Amino acid sequence: MRARRISLAKGVGEAALLLAGALGVTFAFAQSGATLEARIAAALEKVPAIDNHTHLLRTAPPYNPRLENTIPVMLRSGRPETVAAMKERFNIDWDPANGEALDRQAREAKAKLIAKLGGEEAYWADHLVASNTEIALVNDEFPKGTNARSLRWVPYGTTLLVPFGSPSLAARSPSVASYVERSLRLNGEARKAEGDDALPPTLDAYLQFIDRRLAQFKAQGAVALKFSDAYYRTLRIADTPRARAASIYAEGTKIPPERDDYIALQDYLMRHIFRRCGELKLPVHIHSAHGAGSFLRLQDSDVRHLEDVLADRAYFGTQFVLIHGGSPWHEAAAYLSISKPNVWIDLSAMPFLYPHLELSAAIRKFLAFSPERTLFGTDPMATAMMPVGAEIAHLGLSRNLRRALYRALADLVADGVFTETEAIKVGRGVLRDNARRLYGWE
Ligand SMILES: [Zn+2]
Repeated sequence: MRARRISLAKGVGEAALLLAGALGVTFAFAQSGATLEARIAAALEKVPAIDNHTHLLRTAPPYNPRLENTIPVMLRSGRPETVAAMKERFNIDWDPANGEALDRQAREAKAKLIAKLGGEEAYWADHLVASNTEIALVNDEFPKGTNARSLRWVPYGTTLLVPFGSPSLAARSPSVASYVERSLRLNGEARKAEGDDALPPTLDAYLQFIDRRLAQFKAQGAVALKFSDAYYRTLRIADTPRARAASIYAEGTKIPPERDDYIALQDYLMRHIFRRCGELKLPVHIHSAHGAGSFLRLQDSDVRHLEDVLADRAYFGTQFVLIHGGSPWHEAAAYLSISKPNVWIDLSAMPFLYPHLELSAAIRKFLAFSPERTLFGTDPMATAMMPVGAEIAHLGLSRNLRRALYRALADLVADGVFTETEAIKVGRGVLRDNARRLYGWE
């Protein structure tokens, strides 16, 4: 298996392996490769990760076995890593066939564990130790449960792109309709908290509202700002002239704009936020991949659309993180991060999108192009497809991603790309040191 894997991963054709086989050295080659991987793993297991993208802290709705076939196989609850996590954390012998009852038992076990440990904060600290995580970034609308230390908050920038309603925008899908409604409510609540919930009358006034929100996020502990626009609109972000944006805004306060005009206004707002985030030293996370649910459109979520912004000097002062590594266009994402010191790759979601071989092959691409800007990330969510909450998926994803990283590094050493010492340094970078540089935590 090992020899076959190396032949696939090395990309140097089968000639070398055939030669090795003919010389009777295939087995020895495989043995030394395995030892190398084990040494790299042993060195890097000592490095707790900074997990760049999670949805920890959320509690899942009750487990629903009928939804399992709507998610990738690597995310289904019957996977060995989920079974192991349920046993390890809650002493439950997980079996999806009896999932509804076992999910309830596990929640009771979790409540007991929280009580035994002395509260929610201690429970999450214990989880971070179990998952070998130093710091987890937690992407959510509100900072509740984060602590500006081991659990750090990443709010949504996408919410700020909805100043008023638009039936034409919402008609795109039920998912967009609920996003518009939620954003309007959250923005309204934010203005109410400021003491004036009236809609800002002009584009300038709305930009000032955005600036105040960004400053509030920062004051509440935000370490980055996340955009989910691949789900709701498109990653094509045009450079809308200010006069046109101002006119669409002014009209939109009276009559809801059509979708194309609304998108053009959002493009202007996004570019404003990108520049402001650069000034605030708040890295911008952009969902740059396919994703969950029935309504995300592949063409709209294509990471290559971001090139218009990433190659524009106006945004070189802003740090951009391509969340989920541009899947399935990893090589394009890797390319976008070359020679742009402000563009970073996040590996989250990839451990549930791809089995081990494909995952380590994708990581090889990132490490060959941008080893200094590749970030460890998992993307566990609290869904009805996984028992208890995001922490169970988090354990399995963290371990799978580590294994794939170690394998990618060992194969790159076998290929002569890195020495073993360099590979361990690169691995430390992915696990922790790159994130520390990005967020200024050195
Ligand atoms: Zn996510």
